Amino acid sequence: MPITLEQLNHAPLAEAAQMLDGLYEHSPWIAQQALAQRPFASLAALKHAMVTVLAQADVDAQLALIRAHPELAGKAMVSQSLTAESTNEQTKAGLTNCTPAEFAHIQQLNADYNAKFGFPFILAVRGPRGTGLTKREIIATFERRLGNPVDFERAECLRNIHRIAEIRLNDKFGFEPAIGNAVWDWHEDLARHSDPGFAEQGQLTVTYLTDAHRACAADLAARMRECGFDEVNIDAVGNVVGRYLGTSPQAPALLTGSHYDTVRNGGKYDGRLGIFVPMACVRHLHAQGRRLPFAFEVVGFAEEEGQRYKATFLGSGALTGHFNPAWLDQQDAEGVTMRAAMQHAGLPATPDAIHALKRDPSKYLGFVEVHIEQGPVLNEMDLPLGVVTSINASVRYLCEAIGMASHAGTTPMDRRRDAASAVAELALYAEQRASADGNSVATIGMLQVPGGSINVVPGRCLFSLDLRAPSDAQRDALERDILGQLRAICERRGIGLKTEETMRAAAAPSAPAWQARWERAVDAQGVPLHRMPSGAGHDAMKLHEVMPQAMLFVRGLNSGISHNPLESTTSDDMELCVNAFSHLLDQLATEHQP
Ligand SMILES: [Zn+2]
Repeated sequence: MPITLEQLNHAPLAEAAQMLDGLYEHSPWIAQQALAQRPFASLAALKHAMVTVLAQADVDAQLALIRAHPELAGKAMVSQSLTAESTNEQTKAGLTNCTPAEFAHIQQLNADYNAKFGFPFILAVRGPRGTGLTKREIIATFERRLGNPVDFERAECLRNIHRIAEIRLNDKFGFEPAIGNAVWDWHEDLARHSDPGFAEQGQLTVTYLTDAHRACAADLAARMRECGFDEVNIDAVGNVVGRYLGTSPQAPALLTGSHYDTVRNGGKYDGRLGIFVPMACVRHLHAQGRRLPFAFEVVGFAEEEGQRYKATFLGSGALTGHFNPAWLDQQDAEGVTMRAAMQHAGLPATPDAIHALKRDPSKYLGFVEVHIEQGPVLNEMDLPLGVVTSINASVRYLCEAIGMASHAGTTPMDRRRDAASAVAELALYAEQRASADGNSVATIGMLQVPGGSINVVPGRCLFSLDLRAPSDAQRDALERDILGQLRAICERRGIGLKTEETMRAAAAPSAPAWQARWERAVDAQGVPLHRMPSGAGHDAMKLHEVMPQAMLFVRGLNSGISHNPLESTTSDDMELCVNAFSHLLDQLATEHQP
């Protein structure tokens, strides 16, 4: 019989501890201490209580927990002395039937790992969907994590231990994140479409209006109809628009969505999570035969990443009236104009048809967007959800430092005008200056010495600057200091300087009332509230120009890596996100009750 939260909350302590037995390998103290925080509002609250206990324990206790785990496919498995839970997990991952070569390779990895870290490799082998990683995925993860620094890897082991405990807890409570699993599967299914050249290598790349892109749009539209949307169409720029009608046709609608295009060799969740989560909400509403007092419009934006054409945020920009008709003449790398690509896709490709997509803000309550975090913060804090306070302001420059190319052997150090050293000095300053703010970031992502040689002092250095901060004022101060320092460095070193501003975007602070709705929605899931700025740009930034907006972030695994095939999140976190979104809809329904 599965345990219920009600039983756990009311049982005598010893009995409650018994109910949680086996969650943490040979370490019942974690669940026992967490029980002091009863009653738990949700399973997520219980999970977080255990996370907190372990986070507050000293390093020795954390290491003891890690060392209480068996090696993967190790001696304990061979001698069949694993705990029942571990046997179940290692069997599901296919580790009990390795080939001799695989087994030998894993043994070598175990030995190397232990020698470097002094504790066994811990991986939640049942994976982000709970159904098991493949042997290939396990071995690849093992190999990759061997390169991590020791402290980071200890924390990564603890995160995996919490994931193992989460799955064990779900099993005990007979809880299956059925909604999260469905959403997870939708991502997997959509990821089967990928552009030529990438598809063959198992990589995900979906750029604007390619065959794979159009297949994604068709799939999304079909899935929206299945979910019970009343109106579904693909608009003049390729956005997939679904509308779930409300009880009062005149009431302003809620707008949400994110993008379905990807970067080259990207992740499966970037953008798409923000389409599928609200679709799951509609599926649930439709199944209940429930209507909201307002219409709910979910948009799969066709283009956000600016990969095929230099027209970033094209999809959401069309809704705000920012589509530039000159873009129709832009050519991709093969010389195909955007107009031709649109016509090939059966779209009208006329400025008028695109201009007609512009939304009247008075017909909308506002815009909300769910997105995978694309950063390490929530993963490090062991928090599934985060509420965005502001999308960072940014500014970008392409610069050139001009020194004097001279002989590397004959030019004394005090007589050089080394362009690359000047930029190196700036790079260190920019790092310090941005760190001093706490939440600003500065990056020199491009740095080259054109025509450089091993025996020549760099005469020129081309470099980029990307500066971001949560407010325009903070960004401006950062920019002023870094450019000021750049000029001072160049002057002192006798270096000429050219700078060209290539992009400037204002911060998009969340609308307070909308941010508060997300906060209540997260709170209702029983997990701690964490507010954070968004370092990356999102479609919400475009909608910000015409209506109030606020975003919700979902934790990413693997340090939140994104724009990378390792991007990942669990079906448990997806389920929490769907629940939070449904809560936001319920709040709005209450506020707008006729
Ligand atoms: Zn994105």
